Amino acid sequence: MSRILVFANQQGDGLSSGAKEALAFGSRLASSTGGEVRSVTLGPFAETGAKEAIASGASIAYTISNPLLAEYDVELFVNSIHTVFQQSGADILILSFDKMGKDLVGRLATRNCASAITEVVDFHTSNDKLTLVRPIYGDKAYGEYTTTRSKVVVGIRQKSQELAEFDETATGEIIPVDYSPSEEIIVTKLVVKIQSALSDIRLEDASIIVSGGRGIEGAEGFNMLQTLANLLGGTVGASRAACDAGWVPSNLQVGQTGAVVAPDLYIAVGISGASQHLAGITNAKTVVAINTDVEAPIYKRANIGVVADYKTVIPALTEKLKKVLI
Ligand SMILES: Cc1cc2nc3c(=O)[nH]c(=O)nc-3n(C[C@H](O)[C@H](O)[C@H](O)COP(=O)(O)OP(=O)(O)OC[C@H]3O[C@@H](n4cnc5c(N)ncnc54)[C@H](O)[C@@H]3O)c2cc1C
Repeated sequence: MSRILVFANQQGDGLSSGAKEALAFGSRLASSTGGEVRSVTLGPFAETGAKEAIASGASIAYTISNPLLAEYDVELFVNSIHTVFQQSGADILILSFDKMGKDLVGRLATRNCASAITEVVDFHTSNDKLTLVRPIYGDKAYGEYTTTRSKVVVGIRQKSQELAEFDETATGEIIPVDYSPSEEIIVTKLVVKIQSALSDIRLEDASIIVSGGRGIEGAEGFNMLQTLANLLGGTVGASRAACDAGWVPSNLQVGQTGAVVAPDLYIAVGISGASQHLAGITNAKTVVAINTDVEAPIYKRANIGVVADYKTVIPALTEKLKKVLI
């Protein structure tokens, strides 16, 4: 298995951080198997993305520049990537297991009669056999997976890969692919975008996250966390319990089934530290926990623990920081 295709998803006019990780994983795999990495970018900025993919290790970059691909549409994206997967003759399709990847992996695997292996962080190769590695049991162990199918779709766990060096002098071929979807196959149309996140900073890209859990006891408490996050130049996250309660939008969820983050500082406020939550903060550098329960499991992961009511700690910390930072 050495023909590798990476879906290099774009964010604005640049590659997403997940796409860069997928390319880094693909390049590592290619060096180990003697193969080469190809990429596919979609939408009006596909060519810019293709150049970036070449600078990140792709030797051939396929583009589909159709304006209908400007916004994410699952049907159109599956069709487009499937078209390129077939045309490229690749046997491995790699994509970030970010929100979009979670939507695409299973569908692309089904469409291509391929295996789907998700949350992949590493691989081994031996005698031309590829073994993919992913965390299991809420990150307490690693599982190794091989496939008997001739094709595999691999979802790369977010924040698990060191990025490849960006080489602007790298050369490669850009191949435009003709795929002209008709408007009729678009069954769901984006009508209006509503700002639902509390901040412009994506959780996955944030270097400081102030995250709240069930201990926050309601949506109003999150205003306090937001003030602190703004002061620190960070963003707000949440546990699943807080999202399920409707106190914050679900795209703020951190954890196994939410965003996998890697901030320099993660402040967990009123979060118990269930394994599914901790799975999302494995790569956080410093974790500060604020919790009334000294026995809360979050203290096992935290570098700094404050056993107290957040309603006392957060305003006091915010006032102190205002004096220092403003
Ligand atoms: C398949 C599956 C996937 C899941 N995926 C995720 C996921 O991605 N992310 C996730 O977060 N969870 C996930 N969960 C849910 C997870 O198991 C926990 O239920 C959830 O993380 C608990 O959220 P919490 O810590 O906010 O709430 P709780 O466990 O109820 O903890 C609340 C904490 O707040 C403290 N507290 C209470 N009052 C205060 C106060 N005034 N000041 C300070 N501290 C206070 C309490 O001592 C307690 O420790 C998943 C579960 C399953 C089964």
